[in-house]
Amino acid sequence: MTISGNGTIGESLAQATKLLLAENGFTSPRLDCEVLLGHVLHCSRIDLVLNREKRLSNEEQNTFAAMVKRRLNHEPVSYITQSKEFMSLDFFVEQGVLIPRPETEMLVEFIIKTYETADNVSILDLCTGSGAIAVSLAYYLKNARLTAVDKFDVCINAALKNAARYALSERISVIQTDILNGLHADQKHHCIVSNPPYIKNADLSSLPIDVKNFEPEYALNGGGDGLEFYRIITAFAAENLFSNGKLVFEIGFDQGGAVKKIIEENSAFHSITITKDFAGLDRMVTAVKGNE
Ligand code: GLN
Repeated sequence: MTISGNGTIGESLAQATKLLLAENGFTSPRLDCEVLLGHVLHCSRIDLVLNREKRLSNEEQNTFAAMVKRRLNHEPVSYITQSKEFMSLDFFVEQGVLIPRPETEMLVEFIIKTYETADNVSILDLCTGSGAIAVSLAYYLKNARLTAVDKFDVCINAALKNAARYALSERISVIQTDILNGLHADQKHHCIVSNPPYIKNADLSSLPIDVKNFEPEYALNGGGDGLEFYRIITAFAAENLFSNGKLVFEIGFDQGGAVKKIIEENSAFHSITITKDFAGLDRMVTAVKGNE
């Protein structure tokens, strides 16, 4: 990005936004630039407006320009700033870790509502990634103990870091294991939650460029029919939930029927419910474990 002299905050934002607008595929250019500049200046977006006449230093200008260049290459803003807001908390993310999506908040909200008055709840989060689900549950449910599982070093590091950021490490065990190789459990849980990889192999190539080129395929690829993880986790949950325990899945918009069927075929569960997200798409499936 070239700016003659040192631009003001207002000018720099306008120029950077124009650069993104000139390319296809950016849905929120102004917002992206505001988040990036706010990150450089360690201030909120409202402060950018209030201080729009203030000039950037050379260093600020250069840092901002380098970030806008990365965004022009379609790198997600959250990887550039290494941060994503989820459930009003700020999560550390980096490449290799799926960026938490707002849709996933509905799983967390459902579980908070279910257990807010319960004591000593044990919750297992499979495919935890950044730890967004486990850490926000531990944050809002003061009586819960969480176990967060992932296969990948980069995710384990992020989940540990996020648990520590909110001083929740004592109530969250982070465990590295590949659940596809068989999960082995040493205790039962009241709730098992997962936002597993669920995109069909064949659909990976049509994901938006920001996702396809930068987010980890292993967090998205749910196998040939996108359902591989639901089968494994359902079988595991049938054995490792207490009676009346809850299984909570995030699903793709077209997977409600198929995931319901997988759970139905396992006679351990009843009350299987599909819930829509704020866009009106099927997004969550919940089920209740019956009596032994
Ligand atoms: N919702 C994510 C996406 O559309 C997919 C997340 C997942 O596979 N768990 O990019």
